Amino acid sequence: MLSKAVASAVSVTLNPKTTSKFFGLKRVSFVSSDSLVFGGKNSSFNADGLKKSRSCSRMESFVTKASASAQPLKNADELIDSVETFIFDCDGVIWKGDKLIDGVPETLDMLRSKGKRLVFVTNNSTKSRKQYGKKFETLGLTVTEEEIFASSFAAAAYLKSIDFPKDKKVYVVGEDGILKELELAGFQYLGGPEDGGKKIELKPGFLMEHDKDVGAVVVGFDRYFNYYKVQYGTLCIRENPGCLFIATNRDAVTHLTDAQEWAGGGSMVGAFVGSTQREPLVVGKPSTFMMDYLANKFGIQKSQICMVGDRLDTDILFGQNGGCKTLLVLSGKW
Ligand SMILES: [Mg+2]
Repeated sequence: MLSKAVASAVSVTLNPKTTSKFFGLKRVSFVSSDSLVFGGKNSSFNADGLKKSRSCSRMESFVTKASASAQPLKNADELIDSVETFIFDCDGVIWKGDKLIDGVPETLDMLRSKGKRLVFVTNNSTKSRKQYGKKFETLGLTVTEEEIFASSFAAAAYLKSIDFPKDKKVYVVGEDGILKELELAGFQYLGGPEDGGKKIELKPGFLMEHDKDVGAVVVGFDRYFNYYKVQYGTLCIRENPGCLFIATNRDAVTHLTDAQEWAGGGSMVGAFVGSTQREPLVVGKPSTFMMDYLANKFGIQKSQICMVGDRLDTDILFGQNGGCKTLLVLSGKW
């Protein structure tokens, strides 16, 4: 696990008093940096070059560089005073699966009492903002839908931002969250869970028809991924002129259970990259689309944002790509 590697690579000097005060926790460690690895002025890395590298070497390189430039958080008050908005990743930062992480309610209350704007960002596209709102509520946290930015929402927001024609359709490889957000944004869609049980009978001469009005294929994490979806989406991307290929995220792993890491949304996206030989437009972390969207929506300067996450390759890179301060919490260790 990446965060474990970082924890061992970085000599984290914890100040129990400060740490406890910041997140109300005793066991969570933090590493913060104004310019941590990617996009930093003195960085020897180039994000574009990095994206082209294979994920394995990407993570190894990242850990090496991060261990050299990250600093343990020594003065939480100073950090809090220096920004006006905190963006939190959710899984591993706010909760682990269905369990709230100790100290989170107190921390959020404390930050709100100091007038900080709080935003919650997740790459998990299986739920809509409304569905995430219910999850926060179930965990006893008061968070409004407007404060939640899931990659399902980001996909719909991106299509809106480019004035995706309302007479075109979106083919969805993913779960309910993407469909709900597309519906709210007024877009026509097909696919999604409905195609989860579909099979292909490869009789001689069989040809799969596809809708020529599909102008975008959105690919997110999908537990019901199958060959029908790959073929259908591939036909749309390859044969419909101008068809967009959008990925909610390219996460290598996800946490379906706490027993092991599971193949993430990047595995579904990778199938389409393989069959279409095209790279997707990614709307989730670490792409800056959501950061730009948030900065515009709330009128925030990016230097006034601190991104709090538990993964270097998505959360911290997201913050760095956006020109924000970043804070790595090690509470996401599984
Ligand atoms: Mg996380």
